Amino acid sequence: MFTIGCHLSIAKGFAAAARDAASIGANTFQFFTRNPRGGKAKELDPADLETFARVRAEAGIEKILAHAPYTLNPCSSKPETREFALQTLASDLDRMERIMPGQLYNMHPGSHVGQGPERAVDLIADALNAVLAPEQTTTLLLETMAGKGSEVGRTFEEIAAIIERVDLDSHVGVCLDTCHVWDGGYDIAADIDGVLEQFDRVIGLNRLRVIHLNDSKNPCGAHKDRHEKLGAGCIGFDALSAVTNHPALRDLPFYLETPHDNLAGYAREIASLRAARRA
Ligand code: FE
Ligand code: FE
Ligand code: ZN
Repeated sequence: MFTIGCHLSIAKGFAAAARDAASIGANTFQFFTRNPRGGKAKELDPADLETFARVRAEAGIEKILAHAPYTLNPCSSKPETREFALQTLASDLDRMERIMPGQLYNMHPGSHVGQGPERAVDLIADALNAVLAPEQTTTLLLETMAGKGSEVGRTFEEIAAIIERVDLDSHVGVCLDTCHVWDGGYDIAADIDGVLEQFDRVIGLNRLRVIHLNDSKNPCGAHKDRHEKLGAGCIGFDALSAVTNHPALRDLPFYLETPHDNLAGYAREIASLRAARRA
């Protein structure tokens, strides 16, 4: 099955987001658990969640992906920022169990802000060890990053080092963002097999649970993180549709985070990817 969707707003509730997904030919979607710049999450509405379950069944949505706020930084040098990250992670993971058990929750590993990646890896792993619990059904994903500023997770080695230090590592996976790895220096257009071979050797392809499918405004290795519409950027449509057709990736869920100001833009991209999807 081809599981494809995009980032959607849950401002009007989860049922409305699932209807939006169905209306653009998507069978999954990603959403922010709260304002992407942080802050308090909206109370969950039990009536909305009940309708959500019905709409999902009708629309064939079996998977959803939550995204943590960008301001989350479990490896900040400031204790109060680390504390905020812990509170938010714990609260989001708890909410995921109520929104829909057994799903995926993605976070950016963080920025080391001058402390160095080694110290950051330890702090991130400490945070995950503090919030993960055996009874949780949600899988927490670390996203591969472009390496902008002091971002941790630009290299597969940094992601692997975090996971190695997590006790409940069966609850942890990876989200590969095509724009981020490209900007980070992994040439997925010229050598997708080579990049996946590296991923497998360093992290293990069994950890890879989700693909963020984005083109990039910048050349490979630019460390910028500016997403572009599929085919309008430096990676190109053919390379990105090859990602959705790759034997090692094709059964994963794919999420567009491309710059569109309306749903029609996503509908067109989803239709193009479906048309390029091999049987
Ligand atoms: Fe992200
Ligand atoms: Fe992403
Ligand atoms: Zn990005």
